[in-house]
Amino acid sequence: MSNKKRILTGDRPTGNLHLGHYLGSLKNRVELQNDYESYIIIADVQALTTHWEKDENLKNDIYQITLDYLAAGIDPEQSTIFIQSMIPEIHELTMYFALYTSVNVLRHNPTIKAEAEQHGFKDLTYGFLGYPVSQTADISIFKAHLVPVGEDQIPHIELARKIIRRFNDLYAPVLVEPEALIGEVPRLVGLDGNNKMSKSLNNAIYLKDSKDEIAKKINNAVTDPARIRKDDPGHPEVCSVYQYQKIFNPAEVAQIEADCRAGQIGCVACKKNLTGKIDELLEPMRERRANYTEDMVKDILLAGTKKAHNVALATMEEVREAMKISYFK
Ligand code: SF4
Repeated sequence: MSNKKRILTGDRPTGNLHLGHYLGSLKNRVELQNDYESYIIIADVQALTTHWEKDENLKNDIYQITLDYLAAGIDPEQSTIFIQSMIPEIHELTMYFALYTSVNVLRHNPTIKAEAEQHGFKDLTYGFLGYPVSQTADISIFKAHLVPVGEDQIPHIELARKIIRRFNDLYAPVLVEPEALIGEVPRLVGLDGNNKMSKSLNNAIYLKDSKDEIAKKINNAVTDPARIRKDDPGHPEVCSVYQYQKIFNPAEVAQIEADCRAGQIGCVACKKNLTGKIDELLEPMRERRANYTEDMVKDILLAGTKKAHNVALATMEEVREAMKISYFK
């Protein structure tokens, strides 16, 4: 076992990753993989907690998200990418945690409440209500020390710590209480200028988009409605293109702001400039993506899942021993 601290991250496979995912977590994961023993879970069972009747794309979504990881710079030699459903011990541990986790605690979890509202769920399913318990099993079966999360996920990590602490108190101290690693995550507005970048709102630039696709999307992005002619003074603070310039073109943004306010740069030129900057970021990703065949992705997933499974098996031996349900050992 390596001396490095272990970190667990992951995603539900629900479609290709976009720039919001890149800034919010992927970039960080690529940087962290040198310093931590990194496990990345593709949480397909968790995806089914909200999409149980729409599972026909799951296999392709798993493939695409893995390609997005590899394209963004996740190195399968350093990071273990694995599929949740292929590690049945996670579900076994979920059940053991569920034995003593109160339904009321889950019902009052603010993230669960917000997500239930977002999905329009009135009568919560057992699986959906319990997904933070399953997340706790994901984390603790790998004895992860750190879990990089956004602010909205903090209640889940607090709950995970409580569930794990309770297990250690009830049975034996075999599990690790994880810490949340809260990074500074810039919130990336969507191309509509109103909402967070999101696949469901059709306002996203995907990591796999071609230069032409990026140009087309940025051309249609919402800018300052007060600017009709090129020399009209602009208000960059209301322009989504300007928000992107701040993030993707920090070296030129002050000049762009000044020129926009003075009516010395047209929106067409400004958008073209931004397209170039985003393309510079995505081009190396497209090159890396092109290096992987479907078989290579499959091999990476099988090898990662096998490695993760061995870790999970070892933890579960300890868990069953602690719970005194290792009857014939
Ligand atoms: S010049 Fe650039 S920052 Fe100013 S309104 Fe046009 S697109 Fe936005």
